Amino acid sequence: MIGQFVKSDYCMNHCRLCCRFSQPQSVWSPALLDSEIRELTCQGVPPSAITADKKIRLIPLGEDRQDLPLHVGAIFACPFLGKDDNKCKIYPRRPLECQLYPFLINSRDKKVYLSADPGCPYVKESLGGEEFKKYSQGLYQLLSRTDFLKAVKDNPQIVQVYEDALDLFELKHAA
Ligand code: SF4
Repeated sequence: MIGQFVKSDYCMNHCRLCCRFSQPQSVWSPALLDSEIRELTCQGVPPSAITADKKIRLIPLGEDRQDLPLHVGAIFACPFLGKDDNKCKIYPRRPLECQLYPFLINSRDKKVYLSADPGCPYVKESLGGEEFKKYSQGLYQLLSRTDFLKAVKDNPQIVQVYEDALDLFELKHAA
């Protein structure tokens, strides 16, 4: 399990938008490794909860959005986000993409990069700082391991195109 970069307290006090999305389907909804789909299915998650492109199917939030910033429009949420406590119900087994965020596996010009989401307020604040450098370098080393590179290669659904992402390191053998 990859250690969380953004502290939960920061998310709860400054943003609260993780695990929530402005569209029902987009590059931002979490994509799943094949092994994660098998694991969720074994745990009783119905196939309908996973989209044909191997992503978690988001649900509309409706009226349950009182705690969100006022500027936020229509909202869809991951079905594993707890309504009352804002916590991930599958946190110890959350998907690789969720473990990585606000870092991303990004496809650009036929290359694969470890990138970061500049829309995350914590990324904006910490960019260029020692903590950011140290964490991103550690993540790069982890993702450069043979087993991670194989997982990325075998699961092309987790390599997505994030146009505005900040590319940090090329994952040379993942393309
Ligand atoms: S699986 Fe958990 S961490 Fe990932 S989007 Fe859903 S609630 Fe958030």
